[in-house]
Amino acid sequence: MTPLHREIAACRACEAHLPHGTRPVVQVSVRSRLAIVGQAPGSKVHASGVPWDDASGDRLREWTGLSREEMYDPEFVALVPMGFCYPGKASGGDMPPRKECAPLWHSRVWHAAPQVRLTLLVGTYAQAAYLPQTRGMPLTRRVRAFETFLPRYFPLPHPAWRSTLFMRANPWFEDEVLPILREAVSAAFA
Ligand code: SF4
Repeated sequence: MTPLHREIAACRACEAHLPHGTRPVVQVSVRSRLAIVGQAPGSKVHASGVPWDDASGDRLREWTGLSREEMYDPEFVALVPMGFCYPGKASGGDMPPRKECAPLWHSRVWHAAPQVRLTLLVGTYAQAAYLPQTRGMPLTRRVRAFETFLPRYFPLPHPAWRSTLFMRANPWFEDEVLPILREAVSAAFA
């Protein structure tokens, strides 16, 4: 564990707003080549401490072609949500990631992972933070325009259960975007 990992593990910056307490879930190493910026841990991940250890993670692995072994090897992949701790439930889903978290930690995490070649921006919170020029653009249009953000960023819908509806409504995602996503992910490790 690096000093940065220890500092993150001890973070209490927004503890007062976390109904289930702090448990930062983040994975990064100096050798990470691919970064995945997600939303925030859900209740299952909060309990296990293992990021993307849920149905959304299964779907993201299917989309990217990453095995569990690859995804959980920090030498390859940095897993960096917009909020590191579980924010609790809201009506119809989870609360948004705590807004204090990314400004507090992300630049330090990227500094600690200088070899990241490609960053997958999973969901609207990650895209709002890293693609501010697309503000106001619907997610579907942003994902369809993914090539304009390469080689650094690749925007994706959040792979929650609702993404099956997105895929049904937008067959180009599976036919055109996923094959290029898998290529870009493999190239990040080459
Ligand atoms: S969500 Fe982020 S800022 Fe808030 S306590 Fe957890 S690690 Fe700290």
